[in-house]
Amino acid sequence: EIPDIANPTRTRAIMESYGLTFKKSLGQNFLTDINILKNIVAAADVSQDDDVIEIGPGIGALTEQIAKRAHSVMALEIDDRLLPVLADTLSPYPNVKVVHQDVLKADLQKLISENFDGKHNIKLVANLPYYITTPILMHLLDSGIDFATIVVMMQKEVAERLAAEPGTKAYGSLSVAVQYEMDSEISFIVPKTVFVPQPNVDSAIIVLNKKAIKPAQPKDEAHFKKLVKGSFLHRRKSLWNNLQSLYGKDAETKDKMEQVLENVDINKAIRGEKLTVADFVRLSDALVNAGI
Ligand code: SAM
Repeated sequence: EIPDIANPTRTRAIMESYGLTFKKSLGQNFLTDINILKNIVAAADVSQDDDVIEIGPGIGALTEQIAKRAHSVMALEIDDRLLPVLADTLSPYPNVKVVHQDVLKADLQKLISENFDGKHNIKLVANLPYYITTPILMHLLDSGIDFATIVVMMQKEVAERLAAEPGTKAYGSLSVAVQYEMDSEISFIVPKTVFVPQPNVDSAIIVLNKKAIKPAQPKDEAHFKKLVKGSFLHRRKSLWNNLQSLYGKDAETKDKMEQVLENVDINKAIRGEKLTVADFVRLSDALVNAGI
């Protein structure tokens, strides 16, 4: 019987035996509760039918639990100090491949074709480094990979943004980007006490599944995504101000944009945070039609 990596004493002992300290700058808060790790893997319903991508394996606590159930695991870790640790802790699991990579710079499609056989579902399971939660989620959405499911742990506060309603403080470009194509659900809350070292905030496990039907399909998806991002760039400014920063302040562009807003019946003075996903799709389509 192989002892589990995840418990507070063993986690500290492993780090000490390699002379390592936890890097706060890399979001290194390691999970040390075996039940929570098992529940994360269960939330993703990982089985022999699945090839799983993990972001940030740390010392391998979650990787190990995934490896026990999945066909194979590919784990991307940015911190080269952890590579020898992972080679050691994960040596009992031949179905694990650790890749030394910054996930934000990774070509995930390419890594998938290099490491997976194409015959299994692709799932993503991770305890995310919190300092880059939003960029990672955007990177995953933009990758075009057809994930069977995405199960990720993040700060509770960020988790709440994913499902936020228009007009609320938590609503932003992340909410729109996610709600456009995914259904998100908070699976369970994780107290900060189960991490080593402890973060300052509680966390949540989020399950993201592709929507069977998108709320609306924009004509030009890249245009839509740019519009959404740009509309929240300066949160305190009006939609009108943000549109000018996005598409130009010259008289001709402004005339066209005013006409578009009138046509789609969206008030110039409102802020982006009042618009629903469907509003953004309508606005994007109308701007495209006007040649903007
Ligand atoms: N999976 C482990 C666990 O659950 O205990 C560790 C999770 S820890 C919250 C986040 C991990 O992501 C760390 O191992 C950190 O080094 C790694 N990491 C941070 N930034 C990264 C990046 N840009 N690309 C890949 N891994 C990253």
